[in-house]
Amino acid sequence: MQDFHTTKPKGHVDFVGAGPGDPELLTLKALAAFERADVVLHDRLISKPVLDIAAQSAALVDVGKAGFGPSWKQSDIDALLVEHALNGNRVVRLKSGDPTIFGRLDEEIEAVDAAGISWQIIPGITAASASVAGIGQSLTRRGRNSSVRFLTGHDMQGFADHDWNALAQAGSVAAIYMGKKSARFIQGRLIMHGADRTNPITLVENASRPDQRILATTLDQLPTDLAAAEMDGPALTLYGLAPREAAQAVTEFNKELARWPALLPPKSSLQMTCSKVT
Ligand code: SAH
Repeated sequence: MQDFHTTKPKGHVDFVGAGPGDPELLTLKALAAFERADVVLHDRLISKPVLDIAAQSAALVDVGKAGFGPSWKQSDIDALLVEHALNGNRVVRLKSGDPTIFGRLDEEIEAVDAAGISWQIIPGITAASASVAGIGQSLTRRGRNSSVRFLTGHDMQGFADHDWNALAQAGSVAAIYMGKKSARFIQGRLIMHGADRTNPITLVENASRPDQRILATTLDQLPTDLAAAEMDGPALTLYGLAPREAAQAVTEFNKELARWPALLPPKSSLQMTCSKVT
């Protein structure tokens, strides 16, 4: 029988999706996890307003990998997670967007699992969803594309290889994460496989944030326009999609409304919205 008086309580790890930056895109489950947490280990891409919310209930530890700067080794992050949890803490491992997409989640789950610590995944809104919303388009469309690919521009071996043949087909749509550095490589592969040079490509930088920027270009012009735009924030490349014409107006309108508003509207305004809908 277990002796509850002498055994230290074991901690727990919540792998939480922080969404693309707008704090209103956090889930209620993410907020509940912050409230329960003792410590939050977060990545570099998490926005300040989201960190401010997390900091209200827990200690923050930045384990971000900064571009080419000093970075945490994955094994050190794994070890820190396990150490905090074994000390009896409730840990939030906060990852940008959705933790299951290009988030090196499996390594961390395996480390936590091996230490016998309980864990769960709390999904978040991925950058592709926020970016496509920002240009007023949808990722799939009847008659255009019945599938969509989520790609990474680079993997552990360098520029990542993909099914270029399929991507070159008319109507293909892909959300390319970490695609800025590999833009010229991707352009070359697609053209080599017969893609139409006039295919639309849209980059959304800082999606969902007040400094969101949209660059609409074509496969042909991608590297040139990207260099001229000097984007230094996180950007998602939407291949096969152009901003819907009315989207710019919508974005401007939202900017007026947004400016990092209070996290939840007062109850009275929620009720008003509901009654308008019905
Ligand atoms: N798990 C994350 C992706 C991590 S990989 C998610 O689901 O969104 C990091 C890449 O995500 C960045 O290089 C960029 O391509 C993209 N990204 C993350 N946040 C973004 C944002 N706010 N706007 C545009 N792209 C973003």
